[in-house]
Amino acid sequence: MRQVEAREWWLWGFAVTVTLVLTAGIVALTFPENHLLQNSELRDLREWVRGLAFLVLLFDIYTVYQQLQLQRMRRELTQRNQLFEVITENAADMIAVVDCAGNRIYNSPAYQKVLGYSSEELKVTSSTEQIHPQDRQRVVEAAEKARITGRGERLEYRMRHKDGTWRIVESVATAIHNSEGVTESLVIVNRDITERRQAEETLAHHTLHDALTNLPNRTLFLDRVRHALALSQRHVNYKFAVLFIDLDEFKIFNDSLGHAAGDALLKQIASRLIACIRGIDMISRPGRTEDASTFVSLARLGGDEFIILLEEIRDCGDAIRVAERIQERLGIPFVVQGQEVVTTASIGIAFCATSYINPEDLVRDAEIGMYRAKREGKARSQVFDAEMHNVAVKRLRLETELRRALELGEFRVHYQPIVSLQSGKIVGFEALSRWQRPEGLLSPAHFIQIAEETGIILPMNRLLLREACSQLRAWHSEFPYDPPLTMSVNITPKEFAQPDLAEQIGSILVEVGIHPSCINVEITETVAMADPQRSSLVLSELKALGVHISIDDFGTGYSSLSRLQGFPVDTLKIDRTFISQIDTNRETSEIVRIIIKLAHNLGLKVVAEGAETEEQVSLLRQLKCELVQGYFFARPGDHAAAHALLSKEGAEALSFQTAAT
Ligand code: C2E
Ligand code: MG
Ligand code: MG
Repeated sequence: MRQVEAREWWLWGFAVTVTLVLTAGIVALTFPENHLLQNSELRDLREWVRGLAFLVLLFDIYTVYQQLQLQRMRRELTQRNQLFEVITENAADMIAVVDCAGNRIYNSPAYQKVLGYSSEELKVTSSTEQIHPQDRQRVVEAAEKARITGRGERLEYRMRHKDGTWRIVESVATAIHNSEGVTESLVIVNRDITERRQAEETLAHHTLHDALTNLPNRTLFLDRVRHALALSQRHVNYKFAVLFIDLDEFKIFNDSLGHAAGDALLKQIASRLIACIRGIDMISRPGRTEDASTFVSLARLGGDEFIILLEEIRDCGDAIRVAERIQERLGIPFVVQGQEVVTTASIGIAFCATSYINPEDLVRDAEIGMYRAKREGKARSQVFDAEMHNVAVKRLRLETELRRALELGEFRVHYQPIVSLQSGKIVGFEALSRWQRPEGLLSPAHFIQIAEETGIILPMNRLLLREACSQLRAWHSEFPYDPPLTMSVNITPKEFAQPDLAEQIGSILVEVGIHPSCINVEITETVAMADPQRSSLVLSELKALGVHISIDDFGTGYSSLSRLQGFPVDTLKIDRTFISQIDTNRETSEIVRIIIKLAHNLGLKVVAEGAETEEQVSLLRQLKCELVQGYFFARPGDHAAAHALLSKEGAEALSFQTAAT
């Protein structure tokens, strides 16, 4: 269009000149008497005029053509304008045109939809007024760059909505140039990406936070510890600690009240820990007033495990004080589903040391400290130290070796006889594990606990039960006693927690072909009392199977006989610690007497464990204890030793019979 217009100017100039010359020629030809022209000259002039008239005709034709072209272009322009309007008026993106001074020339209606401002309202404000003050400089610089280069970079910044909130927009600017190539204005296309950003942030939040409590998760926590480690390497005075918190008995609570109640409790614990760490600043650094959250981070690692990073502390004492404070706060009862719940926690503390390189190591050591706290009786805290590290390494090695032992079949069953005090005869055996190692036979004290904690106990004791039952069946056919010989097996807490325990035992008994009434299942009173409701259920299932039930190590727990009353128990095994003092300590012998009496009142039989001397045995006989198990009669031995005992007993009975006849 500009080209056509430029061409038009010189064409018009040329036309005017030609027309003037032509007019002069026509005048000269029209009035020849006024001129002093010769005839021949008049003839030439006529030729010129004719030529010029032809030129004018050509020009007129060209002008008509030009005019048609212009009209077409104008029509096209109008159409394009209409199209632009339709696009900009209906576009979801906010389209703005601003001049070089930053004044608004045009704002599309989307501004009203997205930011709430009408175009009248926008007209009276500067184009940068709605931009977040922190982003403004960046936007102005980008616009300047777009003016110079012609096209700006994609930019993200915040714009204020009329209601005062901030929207995130993504924008691209394009420069509009005049005929000299100078930038006249900028067309800016802004897209509202607030929802998209929020969705992305929510997603990022999810990957770094625990869904139940909304606390940071392990990944985020480890990141913070990594940061703390880096700081401590740069500044010698910067000290921090990691506190690993594990609730005591949460599993029991969860299993008995259900997962919904468990979740509700965890949420309450999280809130209480948050409230608790708000005040921690004051405990660890009295007199400081800064916001505590700068120094304390709380996270949930999953299950009932929480973890705290305590920064800028003076020494380990600060961390211990914080742990005490947490325990104090958690000790206040919670109310879950209308029920009052009391919980305690075991806390392990790892204090920063120069030897740490990985954040995972600190968390691991805090966890080891927590396990130590649990083993020492729960509801306490333990600071991790080098000794604990050595123990942990040893345990880890033992765990690996235990797994190998299971694969290689290094576990043996030893049998210790249980003797009737009335007849003096063996009534059955207790099956006890031994680990056959190159250096000798290991007793359960060295491995049962780790096997329990790692779950290795489950396959291990299944093997033991199968072997002990096969052995019993062999003895049954060789030594047909009446009643038949029994076999006692021990059940650990982990086994007891198996929902299908009765089923598992039942299927082994069927497989081997042993009548359930020949089996004594021993559980300690501590295990039975940990969750009386559940115990009652599991014991009833076992009872329904037909096996007998013994309470092992009686007297070492906190239960009383009356509390055991509700359980379908057959036998009570009085712990060795009582029996070993029965002949030397009057008080102990009195306790044993009362236990035996009460047990008989409840219809229970009594086994005295660990009788080592003749005095102890005769005292037990006087107290009407039915059964005894102890070194006095026999130490636990392998199947050959047990077989020898049975054979000897048979031979004695035979010689007694022969002597009698
Ligand atoms: P427990 O069930 O109370 O077994 C009796 C323990 O007392 C056995 O120790 C036995 O050797 C010991 N004992 C028996 N008579 C005497 C005595 O006169 N004097 C002394 N000083 N000790 C005596 P052991 O075999 O070392 O087993 C210790 C514990 O390990 C057992 O206590 C039982 O709770 C557990 N345990 C052993 N084997 C197994 C097993 O295969 N599975 C499970 N779950 N636990 C086992
Ligand atoms: Mg036992
Ligand atoms: Mg025992």
